[in-house]
Amino acid sequence: MMGHTHALSGAAAWLLVAPGLAALPGMGGPLAELAPMVSGVLSPGELIAGALICAGAAMLPDLDHPHATIAQTFGPATWVLSKVVNWASGGHRHATHSLAFAIVAGVGTHFLADRYPLARDIVVVLMIGLAIRAVGVGIPGKTITSALVNIALTAATFVFFQSRGLDYYWLGLAVAIGCLAHVVGDCLTERGCPVLWPLQHRWLLPWKIGIKTGRKFEVKILGPLLSVVVIGLFALRLMPAVA
Ligand SMILES: [Zn+2]
Repeated sequence: MMGHTHALSGAAAWLLVAPGLAALPGMGGPLAELAPMVSGVLSPGELIAGALICAGAAMLPDLDHPHATIAQTFGPATWVLSKVVNWASGGHRHATHSLAFAIVAGVGTHFLADRYPLARDIVVVLMIGLAIRAVGVGIPGKTITSALVNIALTAATFVFFQSRGLDYYWLGLAVAIGCLAHVVGDCLTERGCPVLWPLQHRWLLPWKIGIKTGRKFEVKILGPLLSVVVIGLFALRLMPAVA
């Protein structure tokens, strides 16, 4: 599946499920630690920032592919990160394309971000950068210029969010939802995903009806459809808040 299809599906998934999860009453007992993840109501700013971060997180599993454009997001920094992820996960479409990865990434981000503000900011910046790159910001063939444009746009977005005083208690939730959206998306393609990794079985649609990446259906139908869904969900979620 193409980068921007993943990013759009991440934003759509966030706008669909996050407000519901955030409106759940806080849980008691042993789950109290997780309560900030799912209690309280999202402000319009958090909804927008979350959609962008979730779009970026929906690119995260593909950091296992050092030759993909997404690995060039911040130039050498993300390329090295991608090399490490590729090596640690066993290659493209392995460990990072699983349920286990989505859970570990989400819970890990939540606890890390809770304790270390610097780690939280690094995750936020990385996710914003991945989302901006995924929606096609970049100049073909100009790796360094594209990375610089990305860094500038990401910095501006991050500073803007900081100026709005957002607190990212939902960051782990956004990362998990984004990774899950990616896994679901790739399961719709003909290669499938090892959803229950470390089990190697690949999950994909039966009867070989899997989507072929970058072909007509994805470019002409699925991509535009997801764009309309994201815009529609934004309108739906933000209208009552504005009124
Ligand atoms: Zn993938």
